[in-house]
Amino acid sequence: MQELIGKAVFAGVAIGTAAVYRKKDNAVKKTVVEDTDAEFKRFNDAVEAAKEELGELYDKAVEEVGEENAAVFEVHQMMLEDDDYLESVEDIIKNESMNAEYAVSTTGENFSEMFAAMDDEYMQARAADVKDISNRVVKILSGEKEESLIHDKPVILLADDLAPSETVQLDKSKILSFVTRFGSTNSHTSILARTMNIPALIGIDYPEDIAGKEAIVDGFSGKLIIEPDEETLKHYMEIREKQEKERQLLEELKGKENKTIDGKEIRLYANIGTVDDVQDVLKNDAGGIGLFRSEFLYLESSDYPTEDQQFAAYKEVAEKMDGKQVIIRTLDIGADKKCDYFGLEKEENPALGYRAIRICLDRKDIFKTQLRAILRASSYGNIGIMFPMIISVDEVREIKKIVDEVKESLKKEGIAFGEVELGIMVETPAAVFLSGELSAEVDFFSIGTNDLTQYTLAIDRQNAKLEKYNDPHDPAVLKAIEMTITNGHKNGAWVGICGELAADTTLTETFLRMGVDELSVSASHILRVRDAIRKTDLGK
Ligand code: PEP
Ligand code: MG
Repeated sequence: MQELIGKAVFAGVAIGTAAVYRKKDNAVKKTVVEDTDAEFKRFNDAVEAAKEELGELYDKAVEEVGEENAAVFEVHQMMLEDDDYLESVEDIIKNESMNAEYAVSTTGENFSEMFAAMDDEYMQARAADVKDISNRVVKILSGEKEESLIHDKPVILLADDLAPSETVQLDKSKILSFVTRFGSTNSHTSILARTMNIPALIGIDYPEDIAGKEAIVDGFSGKLIIEPDEETLKHYMEIREKQEKERQLLEELKGKENKTIDGKEIRLYANIGTVDDVQDVLKNDAGGIGLFRSEFLYLESSDYPTEDQQFAAYKEVAEKMDGKQVIIRTLDIGADKKCDYFGLEKEENPALGYRAIRICLDRKDIFKTQLRAILRASSYGNIGIMFPMIISVDEVREIKKIVDEVKESLKKEGIAFGEVELGIMVETPAAVFLSGELSAEVDFFSIGTNDLTQYTLAIDRQNAKLEKYNDPHDPAVLKAIEMTITNGHKNGAWVGICGELAADTTLTETFLRMGVDELSVSASHILRVRDAIRKTDLGK
């Protein structure tokens, strides 16, 4: 038995025979051509044929994975019309008198290297696309057929990397999972995998002789297990069986209410970090977004994201959620989330240090830019704003004053914005003790149990040595949650929980009895929590 660790891009367990997909040898011969005009025509014909193939792949993908995910093939068609790309090929054919295969493959390599060297992760992911289109044209030029990705029996498919056009050719009924050496969570391959519901791992350097061997993909921990022993196999077979039964049952809960047996209904929202996560939110039928960790926009960037960049992201989320509430948490940087360009100093105790709202109230330029972007996006949907790491009533009053100032300046500029609910994260003991006073200031509370546990129990959440003490079921933490809910309601604020604990179904009944109004969990937990709510009877 051999275990390899990579990164999971979609959860789940797959057990089956490993099949290795090797791309055909794409080594392209370099030859000198006499009639460069004829060679250039041969290239143009191949481009037309490639565009036609892409059109067919687009139609197939729309059917299988939806319009949004199929869009990659439209992008590929457009890339084949890119002037710089076409000029580079023409230049190599006409000025260097080289054959079309060589000109295309060299151009593909150069453009791919250029994309890969860019700072922007999205652009880096495009390196695979430009290689993909170039390989397609080379194959057509050399009369090579596409290698089939269809197998007779279901397999775990391993490859160096899978280009989008390859992923879409996977016959879902014959592929249990895929595992790649390269690729990123942002690549189309990963996005498509999530949509196709196949457990998938990236960054696994599997041995070449794995083909034909039995393997297990653990898409929870990112493990690939080759030739598992009997005990391991049995363990994973049980998980797979349980998972399949659960999945089927949970699917039936889509469209159903989050209502207890005795009729108490609460809101079940989802947590997201990026715009792309909205897809899973909708697929899992969440009622809204209870926590948009906006710091990911900053972490993904090499400089402060501009107002317009942020506006575009918030607007897209609001529009996709189509009237369902989207609660955007303002920047929560610092502690474990560091951005070089903020120039934050190294601290002795970062968790107790300069982070979140403390930075925003100091660096008002950054804070106001974000607030302007959020408020502008609020005309396109139902947006709420919440503020992290609050410890005092004065802070909240100062924040509200700044929000009013930003609204005022938008009004003066004639820029529209909608009604937004304002709330705070309750994640410090100070906010819990002051929850009575704080609830008079805001529309809602959202309890961040990850930090609330760390600060209540004085346990650094990053310190693995303290793991045994890090118990969010600790009575002190549960009391803090109860106190927050009760005090929130005293002044008419609604109270939700958005930390990891919200998804702990052993506590769903406890939270409901405490009177929680909303639970916000990762999209993949929505239906499981809905199930727990529907099985609860508060009348008993
Ligand atoms: C929390 O602290 O519970 C929370 C939701 O915020 P984060 O995990 O992003 O700190
Ligand atoms: Mg937190």
